[in-house]
Amino acid sequence: MSAPIIRSLDDLRRQTAQWRRKGEVIGVVPTMGALHEGHLSLVRAARAACDRVIVTLFVNPRQFNSPEDYAKYPRTEEADAALLGPLGIDALFVPDGAEVYPSDHATVISVSGISEPLEGRFRPGHFDGVATIVTMLFNMTQADRAFFGEKDWQQLQLIRRLVADLKLPVEIVACPTMRADDGLALSSRNQRLSAQARGQATALPAILMQAAAAIETGDNPDRVLDETRERLAASGIGPVEYLELCDARTLHAPQPGSPRRLLVAAWLDGVRLIDNVAVSDAPPTR
Ligand code: AMP
Repeated sequence: MSAPIIRSLDDLRRQTAQWRRKGEVIGVVPTMGALHEGHLSLVRAARAACDRVIVTLFVNPRQFNSPEDYAKYPRTEEADAALLGPLGIDALFVPDGAEVYPSDHATVISVSGISEPLEGRFRPGHFDGVATIVTMLFNMTQADRAFFGEKDWQQLQLIRRLVADLKLPVEIVACPTMRADDGLALSSRNQRLSAQARGQATALPAILMQAAAAIETGDNPDRVLDETRERLAASGIGPVEYLELCDARTLHAPQPGSPRRLLVAAWLDGVRLIDNVAVSDAPPTR
C-alpha cells in the first residue's frame, strides 16, 4: 500500500492537531522526492524516534539556480508514495505550489555567514530558498523533530543555525550519508548520469576519502588539496567548483581544535555532484 497523501495545509493541520492533542511526537523528513535509500534512511530514523512521521515532497523552485535544473529535476510522486508504503509513515505531504508561494508571498529567510562560502558562492540565493521553505515546512507540519542528511552538510549546519537563531521549537537530527556499494553518495541527480559517467563517478568519493586520510595522518592540507584537484581532473571529473577543508560547524576556515570537514562540488557529464567527509584531528606528533 502507498503512503497516505495530504495535499492541503488545512488537511495537514487538522491531522497534526489531533496528534498533538494526544501528546504524540511528530517527526518530519523534508524531501524533494525522487526518493532513494538515502531518503529512506532518514524516514527509518524518524520512524524509530517519533510517534508520527510526515514526509514532505516539494520540488522547491526558489532553491534552484537555473530554470533548466528545476525543469529537469526528477518528479516521481507515485513511485515515491509506493516506496514509502512499507515504511509505515503517517502522511506524505505534497503541498501545492500556489499554496506554498501565493502570488503575494514576500518573505525570505536569509541566514548570513554560513550561507556564504562553498555552495553559497556557486549557487547564489540557493540557501535563502532552502531556509525559507524549511521554515515554512516546520510551521506547516508543527514537527517536534526534523531529519536531515549529512550528504548536504552545509545545508544541515545552516538549518541548525536557523533553528537556534529563530528559537524554532524543533530538534534537528542528522543522519549519515548513504552510499552506493562503490562509494558514490546516493543522490536524486545521479539518475541523470550516463552509464559511463556513473562508472567514473566512483572516483569522487574514493579520492575524497584518500585526501581526508592523508590530512589526518599529518600531510600538509594545502598540498593534499592541490594533489586532489589534479587527481580529480585525471579521472575526468570537473570542473571542480570547490574542494575545501573547513570548520565542520561554521564552514569557514578550520579553527585549531574544532572538528573539520572536507567538502567538494564537481561536475561530471552535466551533473553536479557534491560530497563531504569528516577529517579527524591529526595524531599527536612524536
Ligand atoms: P533532497 O530530496 O535532495 O532535498 O534531500 C532530502 C533530504 O535527504 C536532505 O536532508 C538530504 O540531505 C537527504 N539526503 C539526500 N541524499 C542522501 C544520502 N545519500 N544519504 C543521506 N541523506 C541524504
